[in-house]
Amino acid sequence: MKVISVSAAPAPADQVSDWLAEQQPAMLALLEEVVNIDSGSYDKAGVDAVGERFKRFFAEHGIETTTIPDETYGEAIKAHVAGSGGANKPILLMGHRDTVFPRGEVARRPFRIENGRAYGPGVCDMKAGLVINAFVLAAYHKFGGAPAPLLGLITSDEEIGSPACRPIIEETAREARAVFNSEPGRPSGNIVTGRKGGVFMQMNIHGKAAHSGGNFAQGASAIGALAHKIIALHAITDIEAGITVNVGLIRGGQSVNTVAPLAECEIDLRYITPDQREAAMARIAEIVAAEDVAGTRAELMIKGEFHPLVQDDGSKELFGVYQKAMAENGVTVEGEFAGGCADSGFTASVGCPTLCATGPVGGKAHSPEEYMEVETMVPRAQGIARAIAGLGARG
Ligand SMILES: [Zn+2]
Repeated sequence: MKVISVSAAPAPADQVSDWLAEQQPAMLALLEEVVNIDSGSYDKAGVDAVGERFKRFFAEHGIETTTIPDETYGEAIKAHVAGSGGANKPILLMGHRDTVFPRGEVARRPFRIENGRAYGPGVCDMKAGLVINAFVLAAYHKFGGAPAPLLGLITSDEEIGSPACRPIIEETAREARAVFNSEPGRPSGNIVTGRKGGVFMQMNIHGKAAHSGGNFAQGASAIGALAHKIIALHAITDIEAGITVNVGLIRGGQSVNTVAPLAECEIDLRYITPDQREAAMARIAEIVAAEDVAGTRAELMIKGEFHPLVQDDGSKELFGVYQKAMAENGVTVEGEFAGGCADSGFTASVGCPTLCATGPVGGKAHSPEEYMEVETMVPRAQGIARAIAGLGARG
């Protein structure tokens, strides 16, 4: 007779939380190791090395992993902890391990702790978040599983718009019940319940080369056209409404005495609601199509895109569960709006209740002053763990 195992009751949240309370030294040891590996988004070897370290952590804790390889960017890693409470839709603990820093950054400023703050490339954005996610998974595995299966997802390319991992994130979130994205907690200690969307574009303008002295009138200046378009693009910005357009890079021309045959720019659009995106993109299309200088034409390419994190009813409810879980630890947490984009926009856009910035508190991300408040690692891990238990109780 085959006995179909009826799983044991889920791990008591207190047991998980008590174990996490003891883990700060181990969390810091793992954090130091992964911060001290350069892992810029385009550094596949480095990003994969950080992934290997996390895979080893999971193996040491008896947690199964699967990897999704990629030829260009780092592989995506999934860690699986079976549920034991009867629910079958997994709860997703997500994060990225790429950073914005070039190879050599670790040698210049390796991991260090000073006055309660940890420093180093990617320390809060978001290696500390990955570390606490890993410990929450380990805790639930150790004590018999969570009410629902837990799925850790460690991605490799968030800082460049997740070109490889976006479909994996969306597919995983479609199946999931809730997402905790452990980007750094705000300096205030709050988490992020809304984020702007972003579209990153390149515009190429083609003109006609001509000698600027000999036959100027034969030329069509792509730079001249670009100048008109930049003014028009920037005019879309509406600070009050939360819409910004920034032409952040320009290139063009051939020589000082040539009417410019080519010019290009890179454009960054940020917005709050999908309607705003539609309207702004329609206006941008008009600007691209306009022949500001006779004989020129332009084309636009979308190079990358993040969806906004819009708080729907499901995310609101999830936030309530998280708030209550943090309150059990004596921590008051509110939700904030952030202008920066993140992978949480993708999970929210496919309809999965999502919280962002559930990682340890930190600040000054993307700069050499980036820091993480050491004393927040354990409480933030406990908060996620208790929220997972809270979700389970709600069936
Ligand atoms: Zn990040």
